Amino acid sequence: MYPIRLWSVRHAHGLSRFYSLFSRLAPVVCKPLAKVLGTQRLEAVLQPIEKHAKGLFFDCQMCGQCVLSATGMACPMNCAKEMRNGPCGGVRANGHCEVKPEMRCVWVEATAGAKRIAPDHLAHPTPLLPAVDRKKQGKSTWIEVVHGRKDPAFAPPPGPRTTPEAEGSPFETACRSGEFIVTVEIAPPDSADPADLLARAERFRGLVHGMNITDGAGGNCHMSSVAASAILAAAGLNPVYQVACRDRNRIAIQGDILGAAALGVRNVLCLTGDDVSQGDHPQAKPVFDLDAVSLLHVARGMVDRGEFASGRPLATPPRLFIGATCNPFVPPHADRIANLEKKITAGARFIQTQFCFDVPLLEDFMREVRARGLHEKARIIVGVGTLSSARALRWMGEHVPGVHIPEALLARIAAAADQKAEAKQICIETIQAIRAIEGVAGVHLMGHKNDQTLAEIIREAGIAPFFAPKTTSPTWLFTAARHNNQETEHERHE
Ligand code: SF4
Repeated sequence: MYPIRLWSVRHAHGLSRFYSLFSRLAPVVCKPLAKVLGTQRLEAVLQPIEKHAKGLFFDCQMCGQCVLSATGMACPMNCAKEMRNGPCGGVRANGHCEVKPEMRCVWVEATAGAKRIAPDHLAHPTPLLPAVDRKKQGKSTWIEVVHGRKDPAFAPPPGPRTTPEAEGSPFETACRSGEFIVTVEIAPPDSADPADLLARAERFRGLVHGMNITDGAGGNCHMSSVAASAILAAAGLNPVYQVACRDRNRIAIQGDILGAAALGVRNVLCLTGDDVSQGDHPQAKPVFDLDAVSLLHVARGMVDRGEFASGRPLATPPRLFIGATCNPFVPPHADRIANLEKKITAGARFIQTQFCFDVPLLEDFMREVRARGLHEKARIIVGVGTLSSARALRWMGEHVPGVHIPEALLARIAAAADQKAEAKQICIETIQAIRAIEGVAGVHLMGHKNDQTLAEIIREAGIAPFFAPKTTSPTWLFTAARHNNQETEHERHE
């Protein structure tokens, strides 16, 4: 019952006190009962009571790993992506859900509830929660409380990493060196031929430190990001392999991570992913077995401890430089910092943000980043981009989840005689403004089918790094690809 769920968040303070009293009394009252009835019979009694009581107040989904007291009395299992560690990047400007616009974002509610429980809640971030244990679905959490529940949080990776990350990755080396980072985003093609992908990527050779290969961005189907990343790695083009939680469960994701590393990929960006509803397969089943933070935990386990999420050891751990995303430009603005901090604590060594079209918002966010010293723990790379007209940008702001574009910026572009040139000029100005913000480590250029303009922006903004990665011999690539590379080289000299 949605109105009662909202009522519960409004009364989070009182309910959390009731819950903590319940947690203290439950063992005292129920342990003797457990001795008489046995744990299984007691659970059979408690489970339906818990289900109905929590169902009424919280729309409880009985995940069997209740974390209500850590999430402001808003059940994270009501989130369409089952995010257990903070909001996704797609929260709408009015605080409503990316996937179910009729509903307030569960994490906007959770943040409001957390503030009611503890006004200084940012000083006590919610615990780092691992992926949901699906075996516990439908089971009682109360029975665990009776028997003294274990802390559900996972331990962050220990300070210095125990195994090497991506030795030899120019992207990681640049991040460690402190130079201004430039990365670009490339969507894999709708093709089984790597030629187009290589031609587009070659445009950026020597202009960027890394090339992000998107993973079904916007819920649209393309060549797999692991394959596209491997093609770039074989060509010496330093890909950042994006892996989203939307389409694969933890078994498939870990297999892909190992496969990518075996094929020479050295950088991975962990993200939750856009919902399927906006893409070209809205009929598809979204998976979201993990969220970005639990994915970071799994990836770090593979790299640092050399083991699968199950604990089974890996013969050879992957060497990967691991990063995550954040979106400071959508609600809950002031509380986004908590989500970023969790990702960095969980092991992200670099962060790439959503498009920045609003520099003052970024400045506010970076003030918080510096206050918490997060820029010293991970490299913060800010997303920038441009499109050809005010109309196209407005469409993106209205249809792409998590993109915020101020009206003043749209008006400036709309008033220009050459809108494309004006939008490009604004992007260059934005890069210069971002570069001046303390704690920003670089920029990440994005833009759909806009490669030529992005390459021009990198040159004209004067941010192209002074190195040229070596071309390796991609023996297993097709001749067509090499042929196309030559065409690109030709275009560049024209
Ligand atoms: S906006 Fe994202 S985090 Fe919030 S409820 Fe919807 S899917 Fe979940």
